[in-house]
Amino acid sequence: MKIGIDAGGTLIKIAILENDTFTYKKEQSTDIERVAAWLNTMPDAQVALTGGKATYLNSLISHDAFQSIEFDATFKGIQSFLDENNMYLDKFVFSNVGTGTSIHFVDENKQIRAGGTGAGGGMMMGLSYLLTGKEDFADIVTTARAGNRDIIDLKVKHIYKGDKTPIPGELTAANFGNVLHNKDTESFTDADKIASVLGIVGETVTTVSIHAAREFGAEYVVYIGSSFLDNKLLQDIVVNYTKLRNFKPYFIENGEYSGAVGTLRLM
Ligand code: ATP
Ligand code: MG
Repeated sequence: MKIGIDAGGTLIKIAILENDTFTYKKEQSTDIERVAAWLNTMPDAQVALTGGKATYLNSLISHDAFQSIEFDATFKGIQSFLDENNMYLDKFVFSNVGTGTSIHFVDENKQIRAGGTGAGGGMMMGLSYLLTGKEDFADIVTTARAGNRDIIDLKVKHIYKGDKTPIPGELTAANFGNVLHNKDTESFTDADKIASVLGIVGETVTTVSIHAAREFGAEYVVYIGSSFLDNKLLQDIVVNYTKLRNFKPYFIENGEYSGAVGTLRLM
């Protein structure tokens, strides 16, 4: 049995390869000792690690584990998922929306880190908690679905008020910029607030990603990371914003396991 593990800032992604088939599971990074104990019950497994907590996990297990740099592992995993999906891209940008967001150029067989942003899954959780007291991921993404961003976020068309806009009117001019205009007539629900949090995270991630794609001359932006899990609203924000800016978004199913699969492939 081969086990690939991407131990990230929030979640530990585990890809188990047995009889040429992958099975996937994830654990909270705070449970890293439990994951180590589980691995130690399988001394014969070949273990490949990556991610920010890989070295710590390695120190807890008895295996002679392989370790790789998370950017290389993630790229390798993305390549294998794209091949499986018969999606052939030779030049693209990928954006890994994890706790934080890391953005990379890909040219044929190499990746170069383009940059990143502190807007990502961690911001989604932290800001949602500050605004509503909610801290459960499933609760946060479910609550967001019923939200109305229009009373919180200021769009370009709100500023131009029917006049011809020099850029698409649907673009956000100022995230949270409509709050003070509406504070006397509207009450802001938890759903409205969290939907707007997803808005600023999704739009920031997209903006930084497409700037990288433009600089690099790439058509496609591939998005991965657990922040998108069961999170249709964040996916929609990113898809629509990427298209609005004339680039092509692509989401990989199980893409959050790219690092785990990739480090195993590199072993
Ligand atoms: P990094 O790569 O930045 O070190 P990571 O690898 O842990 O972090 P991901 O697993 O890709 O990052 O994504 C973490 C984000 O996924 C969280 O910040 C949260 O928004 C979201 N998430 C999805 N499912 C859960 C969950 N069950 N518990 C907590 N967060 C979750
Ligand atoms: Mg990660």
